[in-house]
Amino acid sequence: MPTEEEYDRIINSRWPSSFIPIDSEQEARTGLKRLWRKATSFPFKGKIQIVSGNRKTWCRPQKGFRHSYYRRNPDGSVKWQNYCWVINLDATESRGSYAKHVSCWNGLVHAASHSCINEYYNRRMKPHGNEQLRLERDLTIYCVDKGFHLGSLKSK
Ligand SMILES: [Zn+2]
Repeated sequence: MPTEEEYDRIINSRWPSSFIPIDSEQEARTGLKRLWRKATSFPFKGKIQIVSGNRKTWCRPQKGFRHSYYRRNPDGSVKWQNYCWVINLDATESRGSYAKHVSCWNGLVHAASHSCINEYYNRRMKPHGNEQLRLERDLTIYCVDKGFHLGSLKSK
């Protein structure tokens, strides 16, 4: 499991600052879909809900379902079930060196790395392990290189 120092070096140092706000709902939706596709190589087919208040940015099962899952079948097809992304554009708090599920680009990438880790490795992985760090690093590089945080996803 990476230490805070490693997390700072491998993830936080790649961001121009520790809290980069997401300017609009549209950019949050588009950004999440791009990150998901990058991590899993499949499009996101679930729901995206934009919320406010204290709710954290997170992927959870849709209302009325206990579980959400995603499975790659041996024939290459993908089975989707009940995903709902909740993205809070209001929250402003960042605790510790992990960009903990707050609504900034840093936090959205972190949350995406949680949510996509099992699909990426096609098995159950433990949270905040070295594998997740690798995925979060790759997603961070992708997000920063493409300039998501600089408005590159804004619809014209
Ligand atoms: Zn986390």
